[in-house]
Amino acid sequence: MIQLDNVSKVYPNGTEALKNINIKIEKGEFVFIVGSSGSGKSTLVKLLLKETDPTEGRIFIKNYNLSILKRKNVPKLRRELGIVFQDFRLLKNMTVYENIEFALTVTEASRRKIRRQVPMVMSMVGLANKAKSYPYQLSGGEQQRTALARALVNNPPILLADEPTGNLDPKNSWEIMKLLDDINKRGTTIILVTHNKDIVNAMQKRVITLNNGRVISDIQKGGYDD
Ligand code: ADP
Ligand code: ADP
Repeated sequence: MIQLDNVSKVYPNGTEALKNINIKIEKGEFVFIVGSSGSGKSTLVKLLLKETDPTEGRIFIKNYNLSILKRKNVPKLRRELGIVFQDFRLLKNMTVYENIEFALTVTEASRRKIRRQVPMVMSMVGLANKAKSYPYQLSGGEQQRTALARALVNNPPILLADEPTGNLDPKNSWEIMKLLDDINKRGTTIILVTHNKDIVNAMQKRVITLNNGRVISDIQKGGYDD
């Protein structure tokens, strides 16, 4: 599903953010990417989204070879990837329903599909009663669940979550983790970048640890220690 072969990233100022990374993630896996600040996590996320290109090596996502993927085809790649961020990134002037609907509208989904899918994902994340609320009327946990529903409404095979619990209290963090676990059990591959040691330790999933741009460990049922 995802493969990085000998991937290195050197920024124009000479910083070596990633050094000869090799990672293979199979369909249906749940993988944590952990590491201290500056270890290369954000660079890895940017490479997977093709926001930036590696200096060396090759990246494959499903049947896309990102090295040769043309700019005009990047939107197709992004449709394979649902994305959730730490800061939610909801559209402020749109309701919960409209935020989720918008993600489908941009793919030119039919009205019929929209009417079916939006309520379905809203109830999946427990927000069926918040359809008409605006982001400012929601708690942090509800905002993140809206963002999660938006990421999932296109049924992407892969969900990439970048520090999704970073702005949440422990209770809401665990609600999001429970949802991600359910989503994974339904077959979605999940890649979760985080600093949250308690969550990583409790979940006992695969953990890839980056340190100073290198993969220093990759364990199947792991925890997070420094
Ligand atoms: P993390 O997300 O784990 O904190 P990053 O991928 O952001 O790590 O950073 C890895 C290294 O690359 C750090 O040394 C950081 O300072 C550097 N870096 C990140 N972005 C840039 C950039 N645009 N230009 C130069 N150096 C960068
Ligand atoms: P952040 O992700 O910014 O650290 P959280 O509110 O998720 O914010 O977590 C605050 C602190 O509580 C962190 O140190 C986190 O590791 C810890 N934490 C998160 N969830 C739990 C939990 N269920 N039980 C105990 N500690 C937790």
